[in-house]
Amino acid sequence: MPKQFDVVVIGGGPGGYVAAIRAAQLGFTTACVESQAYADPKGEVRLGGTCLNVGCIPSKALLQSSELYDQANHAFVMHGISVKDVKIDVASMIRRKNNIVSQLTSGIKGLFKKNKVTLLPGHGKFAGRTADGWQVDVAGEIVETKHVIIATGSTARHLPGVPVDNKVICDNVGALDFDEVPKRLGVIGAGVIGLEMGSVWKRLGSQVTLLEALPEFLGAADQAVAKEAWKVFTNKQGLNIVLGAKIGKVTRNGNGVTVEYENSDGSSARLECDKLIVSVGRVPNTAGLNAEEVGLELDDRGRIAVDQHCRTNLPGVWAVGDVVRGPMLAHKGMEEGVMVAELIAGQAGHVNLDTVPWVIYTHPEIAWVGKTEQQLKAERVEYRAGQIPFVANGRALGQGDTTGFVKMLADAKTDRILGVHVIGTNASELIAEAVVAMEFGASSEDIARIVHAHPTLSEVMHEAALAVDKRPLHF
Ligand code: FAD
Ligand code: NAD
Repeated sequence: MPKQFDVVVIGGGPGGYVAAIRAAQLGFTTACVESQAYADPKGEVRLGGTCLNVGCIPSKALLQSSELYDQANHAFVMHGISVKDVKIDVASMIRRKNNIVSQLTSGIKGLFKKNKVTLLPGHGKFAGRTADGWQVDVAGEIVETKHVIIATGSTARHLPGVPVDNKVICDNVGALDFDEVPKRLGVIGAGVIGLEMGSVWKRLGSQVTLLEALPEFLGAADQAVAKEAWKVFTNKQGLNIVLGAKIGKVTRNGNGVTVEYENSDGSSARLECDKLIVSVGRVPNTAGLNAEEVGLELDDRGRIAVDQHCRTNLPGVWAVGDVVRGPMLAHKGMEEGVMVAELIAGQAGHVNLDTVPWVIYTHPEIAWVGKTEQQLKAERVEYRAGQIPFVANGRALGQGDTTGFVKMLADAKTDRILGVHVIGTNASELIAEAVVAMEFGASSEDIARIVHAHPTLSEVMHEAALAVDKRPLHF
């Protein structure tokens, strides 16, 4: 007799493990299937998916280490602190990152025990139907379940003719595990990963060149933010970003790589580098699920097709996270996991994709929620904008970090907040206020009338709200 569950989740990343925990909390017998051991020293399956193992968490650990190194070299001096011979021990930095990953991934195993989620190690795929549910094959063993939640995530997109070995030519997996600072680092794709990983190695001393196919920089961000970021990243920090680059032949030479490419004016160029990161987006993991055999529908971009409640076309089959439409972000997947578990329990569930915040953890950080100014213009929405720079803020001055601004966009008639864009220190934390405000349909006047602690960076959000009504007090 196969093992019986109410809910089987395929994939143990943020979408999957959170769905499993919530389903178990709601009283369902729940299992989570995960196939990857990632870098586990004992080769045991690890939970946390891309995010914990080779994504959000390790990249932020390296960003923090490299930021401190950069500050010791460049920022301490303005506080009157002098340090000599600042050195980076890459092996220690990577060990620290690995320890954080181990701590968190084993923490999720602990949460599974606490919540009575069964971990089923191995590859999961559909094996057939039962009278009221599904058979799932986990590494050759069949289990039966009423509901399946697919949370198989995504993997790095590779380019034809660019052989990733994760030693010299790396996707996100190898890019998080360099054993020394490369003298010359090439990056294909100046998106989120390219900018974050490019920043890490630039701060540690690499000469970094990013080759971006599109003619505009950070097209998804508000263009005022993108313009400011371009200025800081290129002029101040020295990232060499080539826009409109058409990648040609990529060849290994000795210990390095040569990338031939065409500039936007048609001229040919070549980049010699010691390591190359390929960060040109991610593809949903739908292969190996027997999706076609059971009639599971995919959308036009190869993702599992779902409605706003993450229901697929098959009864009792749901899908969440990177494998479905919407931004490929951990917090979006987690909330979908919670929603699905609660819907299975007959409760209400909803994820508002319009208020999912984006953060790029460069320095300065970039964060936004809602519409950009260029989107509002294209949609012919009448709006009012308020923008306040951090240089007008006492806390930012005290911290010696005044780059950037907060920009708020509100509907011209109703004053409802339509978008908030932050570039500056701690933007990742500041954006939370804007998300709450937008989720509750708040106006810029609401933010303007809320007391913000002094002196804090959040006062810049307050002033931006006042600036929407052209009455800022400190600028
Ligand atoms: P995943 O995390 O990809 O997990 C899916 C899991 O399913 C994997 O462990 C996989 O092994 C397993 N699996 C797949 N198929 C099967 C199968 N058939 N059987 C068993 N197991 C299977 N997002 C943020 O919000 N903030 C960040 O700062 C951030 N930084 C990032 C940095 C990098 C370098 C990268 C690459 C990504 C980053 N992301 C970030 C994106 C984030 O990692 C993803 O959005 C998130 O991990 C998606 O969660 P998921 O559960 O949908 O899928
Ligand atoms: P991305 O979509 O952010 O950026 C990819 C970039 O590569 C784009 O600018 C694209 O125009 C460019 N590109 C595509 N094909 C190219 C080519 N042939 N030559 C040159 N440039 C090319 O993707 P990413 O940086 O790989 O990251 C993947 C996803 O992971 C992100 O979109 C995001 O969802 C997630 N992520 C999030 C965070 C975060 O939240 N801070 C961090 C890293 C990754």
